[in-house]
Amino acid sequence: MEVEKQRGKGHKLVLMPSPFQGHITPLLQLANILYSKGFSITIVHTVFNSPDPSSYPHFTFHPLHGALSETEASKVDAVHLTDIINIKCVQPLKKFLATLLSSQDDDDSVPVSCFIADAALYFTQSVCDEFGIPRLVLRTGGASSFLVFASFPLLREKGYFPVQESRLEEAVVDLPPLKVKDLPVFQSKEPEAFYKLVCRFIDECKKSSGIIWNTYEELESSALTKLRQDFSVPMYPIGPFHKYSLPGSTSTSLLTPDQSCITWLDKQEHKSVVYVSFGSIVAISEAEFLEIAWGLANSNQPFLWAIRPGTIRGSEWLEPLPSEFLENLGGRGYIVKWAPQEQVLKHPAVGAFWTHNGWNSTLESVCEGVPMICMPSFGDQKINAKYASDVWKVGVQLENKLERGEIEKIIRKVMLGDEAKEIRENVMNLKEKANLCLKEGGSSYCFLDSLVSEILSLKS
Ligand code: UDP
Repeated sequence: MEVEKQRGKGHKLVLMPSPFQGHITPLLQLANILYSKGFSITIVHTVFNSPDPSSYPHFTFHPLHGALSETEASKVDAVHLTDIINIKCVQPLKKFLATLLSSQDDDDSVPVSCFIADAALYFTQSVCDEFGIPRLVLRTGGASSFLVFASFPLLREKGYFPVQESRLEEAVVDLPPLKVKDLPVFQSKEPEAFYKLVCRFIDECKKSSGIIWNTYEELESSALTKLRQDFSVPMYPIGPFHKYSLPGSTSTSLLTPDQSCITWLDKQEHKSVVYVSFGSIVAISEAEFLEIAWGLANSNQPFLWAIRPGTIRGSEWLEPLPSEFLENLGGRGYIVKWAPQEQVLKHPAVGAFWTHNGWNSTLESVCEGVPMICMPSFGDQKINAKYASDVWKVGVQLENKLERGEIEKIIRKVMLGDEAKEIRENVMNLKEKANLCLKEGGSSYCFLDSLVSEILSLKS
């Protein structure tokens, strides 16, 4: 049995994350899963948002110097940044691989079996081809949103892009249950850049040796089935990554989580707290921030709010909030800069998660059986929110204007009404399926087994 578990022994995997919190976390979790199968792990990464090597003493880290500076990264949006990485990392990665492969001839060196890259890092396909290294892709988002991304050329051909205000309520015929308003957009000075990035990374995924997903078959079977028909590469839905119990799993957070909120949660009633977080990238206006604050205050439910510094445009942190705001609530509200989210969602006091529906947050909520209030902002978040509210029916979307009265109503709807009971049952059902798929014989367990076999059969 032990030998079976260590099938990867004597094989090296090189992995490269896209340098954003929601991408670094699942890639490091995947690395840990594969490490548990015996593979030795090397992580190549940008200096910008570098993971902390001391949290992973069992991995080798290699920063790509000269690829991207912090100053460059701070000036551009996520799409532009990804474009820059895809250009600037080419030479440093080639240099690194050349050195790595030449040392592979040493007798005691472990050969490289394959390269696993975040899907957004499309440049890695041609680099790997040049070095004759097989490339697997990690898609850190869901399969349902990927299916929409893969349909971009069709959506453009059919006139859905660019999205027109007058058509927002129209159904997207080829992609039920989506409406035009659910289509992924990215607000930037160059909307075309997002379209191009998506088409490019989808094309390069098609050339890979397979796609690894942080999802599970039972959650996204219809999208995965369709993708298997449209893509000729194998699909490995082996998630949810964060639910594998593995030795050596440590924090992947770029910011330090404030543990004091757990002590505060300990004092709250069972399933009474609304946990609010919009992830690591989304920003909101001051007016939106104040509506959220008063909506939470007026809801009479206790709330824990993780507000990352820089979330409110034009403010460092909480400056727009009246200084007596929390005091006046008599302990009913608690604010931190960054929460230990997985621990928070597991906490019995948490009754709902008001989320931006980044894929990690959506999956983490589903896996802990926490109903969602969905407030997507850009990219795949809108699709994740649509699936959460209309397909899995594990949440409610905040569709109307972001206004304190509406917020109060939706909090009541998710936590107290008849619909709340149904939502809770649905999410508990998906939670159970998430637990089962990782057990021996479960879908993710079996896909992981075939992934390991595939890696061992790849010839570099
Ligand atoms: N997260 C956290 N503490 C916070 C907010 C977020 O640990 O206060 C983590 C969360 O658990 C998730 C990740 O940050 O794993 C956010 O990823 P997601 O895909 O949800 O959104 P993104 O940040 O990419 O928009």
